[in-house]
Amino acid sequence: MASAGAPIARPLDVRWIHGSPSAKHNTDPDIQVHEYDEHTVILRQNKAIHYEAPFLFLLFGAERAVLIDTGATTEAEYFPLRATVDGLVAKWLARNPRPGGDYPLLVLHTHAHRDHVAGDGQFADRPSTTVVGADLPTAWAYFGFDRDAEATARVDLGGGRVLKCLATPGHHEAAVTYYDPWTGFLLTGDTVYPGRLYINDWPAFGRTVERLVAFTESHPVTYVLGCHIEMTRDPG
Ligand SMILES: [Zn+2]
Repeated sequence: MASAGAPIARPLDVRWIHGSPSAKHNTDPDIQVHEYDEHTVILRQNKAIHYEAPFLFLLFGAERAVLIDTGATTEAEYFPLRATVDGLVAKWLARNPRPGGDYPLLVLHTHAHRDHVAGDGQFADRPSTTVVGADLPTAWAYFGFDRDAEATARVDLGGGRVLKCLATPGHHEAAVTYYDPWTGFLLTGDTVYPGRLYINDWPAFGRTVERLVAFTESHPVTYVLGCHIEMTRDPG
């Protein structure tokens, strides 16, 4: 699955679930699963379970998968993230068998706000799984941003799918933006999304946006995907 040329933008005309007038009579799934392509899944938490309804991303490579963020709700009963991910991994492995070898899962985060890390505990006892803490000391040490905040870190999923990761503080001090060359996605977390942005540190946010703009000049981006979309009371 080496991605030699520029990524091609596939259609992303999915209708995201938008909750129900009454959470009691909620008819949406707990987690909406959108398979963007055979190796890329976009997940969305149900708004009736948690109003933040964050997006999560599951990316498959030849050697391992990465889950970016774990959602806003801790309890698997209301937010069965582990079961959903396990099902998607099993489905992927059925299509892409790995004789004899295990298939590790890496859990990373866009930042440490509660609505992006709450499901971490569901992965604590998962075999072949590494959960990298989203807090600044842990995440920065993992990416090497503690030594060089301007560095571009790499997360190799195998088969040529190597994510590029940038420290992008501003919304949150430990915010990370991920670029996936396979899809051309720029996963901006809560740093950039279509809605009201909450900025904690304006000077840092300004530098972050300048760095992201410069980054996109040398990396083909198909979609800038944040972790939220702003919704109104009106359907659609
Ligand atoms: Zn946030």
